[in-house]
Amino acid sequence: MTRARVLLLTAALGPLDYRVPQGSAAPLGSVVVAPLGPRRLGGVVWEDGSFGAPDPVGDNRLRNLYEIVPVPPVPAPLRRLVEWTSDYYLSPPGSVLRMVLPGVAFADARRPIIEYRATGDLPPRMTPQRTVAIEAIGDRQGTVRELAALANVSEAVIRGLVQTGALEPVSVAADAPYPEPDRSFAPPDLSDEQRAAAGQLKAAVEARRFETLLLDGVTGSGKTEVYMEAVAAALAAGRQALILLPEIALTEPMLTRFAARFGCEPVAWHSGLRQAERRRAWHAIASGGARIIVGARSALFLPYADLGAIIVDEAHETSFKQEDGVHYHARDVAVMRGHFEGLPVILASATPALESLAQVEAGRYRHIVLPARYGGATLPDLAAIDMRADPPDRGRWLAPPLVDALADRLHKGEQSLLFLNRRGFAPLTLCRTCGHRIQCPNCTAWMVEHRLVHRLACHHCGHVMPPPRLCPECEDEDSLVACGPGVERVADEVGLRFPEARTAIVTSDTLWSPAKAAEFVDNVEAGLVDIIIGTQLVTKGYHFPNLTLVGVVDADLGLDGGDLRASERTFQQIAQVAGRAGRGVKPGEVLIQTRVPDAPVMAALVANDRDGFYAAEAASRKSAGAPPYGRFAALIISSEDLEVARGLAQRLGQKAPVLDGLSVYGPAPAPLAMLRGRHRFRLLLHAPRSFDLQGAIRDWVGAIDWPAKARLAIDIDPYSFV
Ligand code: ADP
Ligand code: ZN
Repeated sequence: MTRARVLLLTAALGPLDYRVPQGSAAPLGSVVVAPLGPRRLGGVVWEDGSFGAPDPVGDNRLRNLYEIVPVPPVPAPLRRLVEWTSDYYLSPPGSVLRMVLPGVAFADARRPIIEYRATGDLPPRMTPQRTVAIEAIGDRQGTVRELAALANVSEAVIRGLVQTGALEPVSVAADAPYPEPDRSFAPPDLSDEQRAAAGQLKAAVEARRFETLLLDGVTGSGKTEVYMEAVAAALAAGRQALILLPEIALTEPMLTRFAARFGCEPVAWHSGLRQAERRRAWHAIASGGARIIVGARSALFLPYADLGAIIVDEAHETSFKQEDGVHYHARDVAVMRGHFEGLPVILASATPALESLAQVEAGRYRHIVLPARYGGATLPDLAAIDMRADPPDRGRWLAPPLVDALADRLHKGEQSLLFLNRRGFAPLTLCRTCGHRIQCPNCTAWMVEHRLVHRLACHHCGHVMPPPRLCPECEDEDSLVACGPGVERVADEVGLRFPEARTAIVTSDTLWSPAKAAEFVDNVEAGLVDIIIGTQLVTKGYHFPNLTLVGVVDADLGLDGGDLRASERTFQQIAQVAGRAGRGVKPGEVLIQTRVPDAPVMAALVANDRDGFYAAEAASRKSAGAPPYGRFAALIISSEDLEVARGLAQRLGQKAPVLDGLSVYGPAPAPLAMLRGRHRFRLLLHAPRSFDLQGAIRDWVGAIDWPAKARLAIDIDPYSFV
């Protein structure tokens, strides 16, 4: 009889033993479906010794595996990565494995998927919901569930539209092969500097060895062109290449760029894919049919058939850190994947994270520098506008020098970008009569006004409500006022000052799909937009040669809040957005509105003194024992019941480990004391770099009885301190 130890796709359990049915084979890594009580669960056949020994089960009590799924086995290096990730981030291995094997892994790729699309016929009987659905669907197609989600109606509404003939079924093949990229399709003519950098990357790919390379080049230096040569080298070796990007909105322009270089679009992997696309992509990635993969952080764990290189673009971005479920950092795990699989990992950035620069200094990463913009374009000039000396008019947000600069660009037919990292119209709605502030019922957060859609929305839990006419507290009429600006409000001001200007608002509300992002790029490139007003979505990736002015509306926004990386993040964000200016032949100008022009980060930006800023920041982190020179971990205890959360947090606090070098702060209510209806308490751990934080947490938390009504989230190396 053959036994198999199986790691199931569930957070609740460690590996379990099963019997392999006679006549089948289930070698290590096999993807299987196994019984668990009355359920069928996916899993992977795992080494016996990996997670300690489960209770021995007699042969006679073993249940048969239901199925050995006909997909390639999960290779040993990827199994090691799952174990490492589970160990390091203190997450159940089954949860990590789920990122390797999403649901589509178990679907037969040969079976077509039925999607629906509009026929143009309207149903004989229209209802408001049917109208909404037909409008929202437009010329898109998808499964019943996807269309229902897209239109925000029930599946019954969609099925009704199918029955009346307003929607028709289309059969989509999920196993159609992807076109083969051609590494010699349109190679660029690299500058000498670029060629030297590309040569190093290529050699690293050809060496088939683990190495981390930091491609550190100013904005517009051609980092993308350069790392595409590493992709070409992977193709030449018959292998796959993975490029991780921080935002989905960036994928579309990137796909186009890859198509121009390699003759066809790469395979995309992100949460916006339809079921059929996801299924097709997963199977092609696992079988090797997908050669170049451009993806969000979740693409990191997929079972590539033969990966030759991983590139993390905009590697300093904190959105590579996942903030729920497994709290992993995709940049750090990418390096570990490279280590286990013996392949090079390329981190590309104009403003590397302090963590990455520290690794360079320690001799662990190779530093490849591109110091100048490509094609003779110069870096923009940065200047601060002191908002205390030169304030905007009352109720306005743009200071006179910035308004003048905008007028000048309009006059010259050049484009401008106003950057404010805040969606919506106003971050706060306040009652003039009683001072009441409208707050989310589920979160410790204000409701943000979105005037374009006439809603107040919570940016934490998604709760929405129509803007009330009466103050909910004192019931005074017309007493509610909007406080502070969001991008919509800045756009209003631009409209008032420059009625002739054509504007585009760019946030995740307006650019919610790759198609919308592509439309935006086309409009700007065609010169149909004069002034872009956007959040951090516009700070990276875009290349608009006629854009010569960048205005940072509130540079101080990221500095409050006491985040240990606040200065670094502000520097990176402003340097990135500044990098959008003057990328063509015309030089760029950047105006930074701030109330603290003397703050080191503002002074460094204006003086273009990156090295000085990083050196000072590193020194202050070192003296505080903060990352990368020390380590943090956060424990968040949450429950819908305040007393349960508080009681548990106190119990954990009382049992906190007392160890040399370890400091435990809290428990205290988390800055976001309530989130999605759950009360939250936080414990923060601080220790030197060499300290075994995970071990300490494992012993501590493992000894506590956990009430069913409470949840514990462990965040190792946290980036968010709320
Ligand atoms: P970065 O990623 O460093 O900001 P990009 O790779 O986006 O820079 O390059 C900036 C612009 O310059 C892009 O439009 C790119 O196509 C162009 N470019 C860079 N290097 C070359 C080259 N060797 N030949 C032609 N165009 C180039
Ligand atoms: Zn909320």
